[in-house]
Amino acid sequence: MNIILLGPPGAGKGTQAGRLVSDRNMVQLSTGDMLRAARTSGTEMGKIVADVMDRGDLVTDEIVIGLIKEQLESGKTGGGFIFDGFPRTLQQADALGALMDEMGLTLDHVIEMQVNDEVLVKRIVGRAEEARKAGQPVRADDNEESLKVRLLAYYKQTSPLIGYYYAKGMLKSLDGLGTIEQVSKDIASILDA
Ligand code: ADP
Repeated sequence: MNIILLGPPGAGKGTQAGRLVSDRNMVQLSTGDMLRAARTSGTEMGKIVADVMDRGDLVTDEIVIGLIKEQLESGKTGGGFIFDGFPRTLQQADALGALMDEMGLTLDHVIEMQVNDEVLVKRIVGRAEEARKAGQPVRADDNEESLKVRLLAYYKQTSPLIGYYYAKGMLKSLDGLGTIEQVSKDIASILDA
């Protein structure tokens, strides 16, 4: 079973992906995590992506498609892939489709986590506040300014994927504002249907 978790920043994709990894031995492919790892590696690519990410803009399709391709070809499949934060543009979605076709993989569900924008902003700014108080590291892009850019990028570049996957008959939408437990249950009922 291979799925995409789709939704704006702060919708809880990473949390749910983490649960699917432990509950179902799925393999989480988070381009955000891959890019954060790349930026700390000190490579040329890392330096390029760091600025873009801190601003809240999207990294080029070429870079993220390359990262995903590398992971898909690494041979680790487990109980299937969870694409988390990818694809984020129509071009990435097309590239993923082509890559999966080539590899004989199918995309089973695209799960859209719907959240109200006001709640989103509160969640992300709150998450940064809590981390700061606890003396934990705060993501450089978890501030109101970058968040505005990230939300805009989502609506401009990523939300067209909702229609794209709906037309392909793969879209399942759920209320991302429920408790973590409730959202997990909703995802489970999609996967086990
Ligand atoms: P969030 O979902 O909380 O916005 P992510 O961890 O998924 O954060 O991504 C953080 C940043 O990494 C994005 O704002 C963007 O700059 C970059 N990024 C992640 N995934 C992609 C992608 N598929 N395409 C382009 N840029 C990406």
